[in-house]
Order: sequence, then C-alpha cells, then structure tokens
Amino acid sequence: MTEKNEYVGCIHIHTIYSDGSGTYEEIISKGQEAGLDFLMFSDHMTLQPKRDGYGGWYDNIFVSVGYEINDREDKHHYLAFGLEAELPSELSHEEYIKKVKELGGLGIAAHPFEERDIKNSLPGYPPASWGNLDYEGIEVIEIWNMMSHWMEKTTIRNKYWNIVHPRSFSTFPKKQLLKWWDRVNLKRKVTGIGSIDAHAVKIKILGIFEKSVFDYKIMFKSLRTHLVIDEMIKPGMDRDEVEGKIFQAIKNGHCFVSNYRRGDARGFRFWAENDGKTYNMGETVSSGTANIRAILPQRGTCRLIRNGEVYYKNELKELNLEVPAGVYRLEVEKDGRGWIYTNHIRIQSK
Ligand SMILES: [Zn+2]
Ligand SMILES: [Zn+2]
Repeated sequence: MTEKNEYVGCIHIHTIYSDGSGTYEEIISKGQEAGLDFLMFSDHMTLQPKRDGYGGWYDNIFVSVGYEINDREDKHHYLAFGLEAELPSELSHEEYIKKVKELGGLGIAAHPFEERDIKNSLPGYPPASWGNLDYEGIEVIEIWNMMSHWMEKTTIRNKYWNIVHPRSFSTFPKKQLLKWWDRVNLKRKVTGIGSIDAHAVKIKILGIFEKSVFDYKIMFKSLRTHLVIDEMIKPGMDRDEVEGKIFQAIKNGHCFVSNYRRGDARGFRFWAENDGKTYNMGETVSSGTANIRAILPQRGTCRLIRNGEVYYKNELKELNLEVPAGVYRLEVEKDGRGWIYTNHIRIQSK
C-alpha cells in the first residue's frame, strides 16, 4: 500500500462568482503555497468560471470547476463536478441527484444534517439541511464540513472568539452523520470526503474592523481529502483524464479525510491484507477474514470501527490486526481531537 500514489486536495470552495471573497487567481496561489495537489471549486448555481476558461493545471496544482446546486427552498445543497453546463434550476433534489449521475458527473451531498441553535445563532444564516439523506443516488457525502460546522457552533455570544480562532471549535465530525454513514455502508458504498466550504466572508467586528472569517489560507490548513490510488497524476496531463481519475478515486472510496491542524497526514495508509493481496479503502475482501493494517505518520489514538461500533482502540503508530467479516473504517485522534477518518473496507463472509 505504501507504493500507491497520494494526492491531497481541498474540496468545496466559493469565489467572487458567488458569495466568496477571493478570485480564482488569489485562491489558487494560496493553494499552491499550502502545498496542495488539487482544488475543487463549487460556486452557488453557476458554472460561469468554466466558461471563462478556469480549470486544469496551474503549475503543479490541478483545479476542477464544479458548482453547488440548491433547490427552490435553498435546501439539499449538492456539489456537481464534471458537467459542461448547469442543470435547469427548477429541478428538485431527487431530479438533480439523478441527472448528475446520468451525465457521468460526480455528485456530493453537502453539509448533511446541518443545524442551528435557533435562539442564539447569527441572524441571516438559516441551516441548509438535507433532512433525510436516504436517496439511492447519493454516492458521496461530506462527512466533515468546516464552514458549516463553524456556523452551527457560532452564536451571538461567542462570535468574536470564533472569528479570531476559526479552526479551534470544529474538533470532530458530527456523530450523527458518522452514524448514518456507517449504517448506510452496511448496505452499499457511500464515500465520505472532507470539505472546507470556503467563502472567506468578511464580517465587521464592533462595526469597525473587517475580519475575514476563515481566510482561504487558513481553510487550506484544515480539512483535506487524500486520494490513495494506483494511477499517477502529473502536471501537464490532459484535463479530462485527470478529472476522470480524481472523480473515480472519490467514487471508489479510495480516500481519507484529515484535519491538517492536528498534523500533516501525508503518508498515512489504511488497508486490508489477505493471502499476500492488499485491499484499498473502498474495496471488498471476499475471503471471510483478513488483516487490517495501518501506518500513521505520527502516533495517534486509533479507533477501528466495525459495523458502526468501536471494535478495537489503542494508541499506536502501526496497526496489524486479524479481524472477522465486517465493514471497517479507522478514526485517529491526536491530542484528544479528530485527525484522520478513512473510508470503509468490506470483508465479506465466505
Ligand atoms: Zn451549501
Ligand atoms: Zn458551499
């Protein structure tokens, strides 16, 4: 598994094409400074940046331009990548989930189960929730969304603290969401990704200073999605080919999520092994038993989840454990906070 290629990116970025504050140029150069391999942009309801020529390689960073769809009630936000033009805006969420798939695109359910503390939350930012997530067509979800979580936790009382320390509050993905994710994965594969939902909106403090909440630079040092694949992606390669590889890796679940704030997770690996064969995240072992293995870049508290329950917990740097059939994923904590979340590996009983 260590010989596989790893590509690290940030997903769900807004620009001045909708309600973000940065231009493509500014954001891409911040992504390069952060050492990322790819960025996935998704402005609300528009693919205009694509028509304006954005997307493809910018030196050594790859940019994919998609968009964020919402329905008439401004709910069911869905990121769509790989489309040539926007879908008709009157479609219902059931219809756009289907349509994106039919067109061969990548669809991602954004900030599922978003909530607000109605009495104390900031005015003007109602939750854009999914309510129910049980739609067959959903293949990928955001298991951790930085901005959405920030909005949930920010109240009239703590807003100044949260604006100045934006990454300090979102320490774990939402439990309710992980529960749903584990449950649905007992039946079928749904990939989890990390998303930043970066806007870098400027908020006035005490009516005087303008402080940008979650500047892109800070966001790029928070939730990242790491692809672990056989294929090589190289600067200069054909744009459609690269997008195809990135989208396929995500759909296949060959990826994990990390919070860079807790440490650089590059080099982390999680796989299953049986009879000398290795199985990546998102893959299925059919032999009834296997060894679950992991290598961490630094020691961390690992929780191996089997069928939605904690099966094994220990602080370690390497894991090698023989396990029975089940659906497994690994969570790693550092300093008592969430660091790494993998996708599921299935071990089927014979
Ligand atoms: Zn949204
Ligand atoms: Zn968004």
